[in-house]
Amino acid sequence: MPDRKLALITGASSGIGREIAKLAAAEGYDLIVAADEPFVDAAIGLSESGVEVQSIEADLSTSAGVEELLAAASDRAIDVLVANAGHGLGRGFLDQDVAAWRHVIDTNITGTLLLLQPVLKQMVARGEGKVLITGSIAGHLAGSFQAVYNGSKAFVDSFAAAIGNELKDSGVTITCLKPGATETNFFARAGMLDTKVGQAEKDDPADVARSGWEAMKDGEHSVVHGLKNKAQVLAAGVLSEATTAEMHRKQAEPGSGGA
Ligand code: NAP
Repeated sequence: MPDRKLALITGASSGIGREIAKLAAAEGYDLIVAADEPFVDAAIGLSESGVEVQSIEADLSTSAGVEELLAAASDRAIDVLVANAGHGLGRGFLDQDVAAWRHVIDTNITGTLLLLQPVLKQMVARGEGKVLITGSIAGHLAGSFQAVYNGSKAFVDSFAAAIGNELKDSGVTITCLKPGATETNFFARAGMLDTKVGQAEKDDPADVARSGWEAMKDGEHSVVHGLKNKAQVLAAGVLSEATTAEMHRKQAEPGSGGA
């Protein structure tokens, strides 16, 4: 068994997760990376870093998918877990298919918890481990025209803080990364390219990944990437939910981005 440490990173085929995987590889972690669609290690530039990379294709909205991913670690200890897989869903709630909004909840909440619980039990038993969970500043905002997604991230943001507190004396740290709008596949996948936020200039996923990775290494409870996003979170703390919902409508309503 290699001496190198092991990082398990979900949602590593693109966007923020892919950038986190690059940082982990550069720091010498062996990787188990997972996504829903087939992807190749070479595409994320990890194979050149001399670490072992195992890529798993699994739908992490399901118990079977999570079990498949956990089986890949076999009996190797997981030193770092990055629970990053997730996706959004735009449009009004009444226009969304049940299967589509369920998949958001099943991936962002249920699948994340199914993965976290066994890995955290192992880490706590060893008295060490670092966990980075990708929440969102969306968790602080009532998300008109992205209501299920924002609700799912409110859950994730809150859950991460709560278990971080439960485990504060365990040697295991939980860090919640809260990005704002970031230039990834997120908005295309959510069907939001015709919205104002979908068309706005966004943060670089490499910068967002670095904020999360460094905060995780420092054992911080949470990190909001970027000044503008920090200001939004502060404002959300004093504004009513009705106000943030109206602000969100202006950004996320279908057609708000113009032609
Ligand atoms: P992205 O480029 O679309 O990456 C999402 C990753 O999650 C992909 O690797 C995707 O793999 C994987 N994934 C999604 N559903 C999955 C499932 N059911 N099973 C397995 N893998 C799944 O978007 P991203 O922006 O980097 O998203 C990463 C995280 O950041 C998400 O949790 C997202 O909610 C959060 N976030 C994003 C933004 C933003 O503006 N981009 C802002 C705040 C928070 P497949 O493509 O194979 O499904």
